[in-house]
Amino acid sequence: MQRQGVALWESRIRPGSCPPEAPRLTATDRRQSHEKIMNDKGKLILSMLIVSTVIVVFWEYINSPEGSFLWIYHSKDPIGDGSIQKGWWFPSWFKNRTYNYQGDEEEDIEKGKVKKQRKEDEDEELQLWDWFNPKKRPEVLTVTEWKAPVVWEGTYNRAVLENYYAKQKITVGLTVFAVGKYLERYLKEFIVSADRFFMVGHKVIFYIMIDDLSRMPLIELGRLRSFKVFEIKPEKRWQDISMMRMKTIGEHILTHIQHEVDYLFCMDVDQVFQDNFGVETLGQLVAQLQAWWYKADPDEFTYERRSESAAYIPFGEGDFYYHAAIFGGTPIQVLNLTQECFKGILQDKKNHIEAQWHDESHLNKYFLHNKPTKILSPEFCWDYHIGLPPDIKAVKISWQQKEYNLVRNNV
Ligand code: UDP
Ligand code: MN
Repeated sequence: MQRQGVALWESRIRPGSCPPEAPRLTATDRRQSHEKIMNDKGKLILSMLIVSTVIVVFWEYINSPEGSFLWIYHSKDPIGDGSIQKGWWFPSWFKNRTYNYQGDEEEDIEKGKVKKQRKEDEDEELQLWDWFNPKKRPEVLTVTEWKAPVVWEGTYNRAVLENYYAKQKITVGLTVFAVGKYLERYLKEFIVSADRFFMVGHKVIFYIMIDDLSRMPLIELGRLRSFKVFEIKPEKRWQDISMMRMKTIGEHILTHIQHEVDYLFCMDVDQVFQDNFGVETLGQLVAQLQAWWYKADPDEFTYERRSESAAYIPFGEGDFYYHAAIFGGTPIQVLNLTQECFKGILQDKKNHIEAQWHDESHLNKYFLHNKPTKILSPEFCWDYHIGLPPDIKAVKISWQQKEYNLVRNNV
């Protein structure tokens, strides 16, 4: 078939169409030249494709927020307060381009909406510099290495914060445990003082965990405050009572707290509020500096130093010594914290080791790898046994008298 076709084609051009001196093209020559043209076309299309791809990639690159090739990866930032969520570049590029298919008018409306939304977001989002001035306390550390604020009296603008959080209509939760003798000794004073000073003007839910509902003291709460009381199984050892809080808090966040509050604090019961503990303490992941250690060198900290424990922190590492009597954040952050700490506690139990300072050792390990987004100065949880150095301008919570021999069950 093919041979015949070539013969026909040859016979059609034969009669005097080529000058006698021109070499006659054979069928193979023609096919080769045809293939060459096709090849060249292909190469041209391919190179155009490559060039346009390079242009698009370069354009996206110079327009990317970081100006680096990192933008092609998903950015995971569940913590950062004012962080920008970056997605894959291609879907966003595609989405933006689709606006072009709509009429100009529609595009303008769309742009207007985006602008308005952005303006609202700017209005809504509170920036660190709107409320925090680290220079107001030059004698103490007010910003961590990872740029988190350390909130000291005088560094925050309460009016700006109040205005912002009032608009947000937040609810703040507070968990507290009172098991065994801690119930009679500390609980009422803690709740009564929290009612007066904790998140004044905002909705608060106290989550009170006790081992005997019939011993719950009668407490009258102010406006915007409510409480939920839960009966929990008392552990035999005080160390376990303290550590098992991590498990219980996590379970309660999962089953209900996450749906009920915007922020959650978890506190020891053996302390009393003395002054306003307000919205300046709110953040994604909040840690408290331990009053006795805030000036010490990290190598002096009483971190767990045995490598067999899950709470182990080697010498040379660590930022601060955090106090387990106060920690907080958004429910999701606190959930992760309690679950991770409890995992460490269980691992230690399996390995027949107990961290030196129990849940506090595990908490310090957690904060080493999950940096708090806000740190509270020791003014927020002060022990008057230390005295009252000039750094401590306003005590918000003070430690109660430690009466271990009276309140602990196995000392
Ligand atoms: N706790 C309790 N009953 C106990 C031991 C501990 O209710 O027998 C709770 C209580 O909320 C207490 C917290 O666990 O504040 C931590 O224990 P503690 O305050 O004794 O530890 P410390 O502050 O001395 O590290
Ligand atoms: Mn305590």
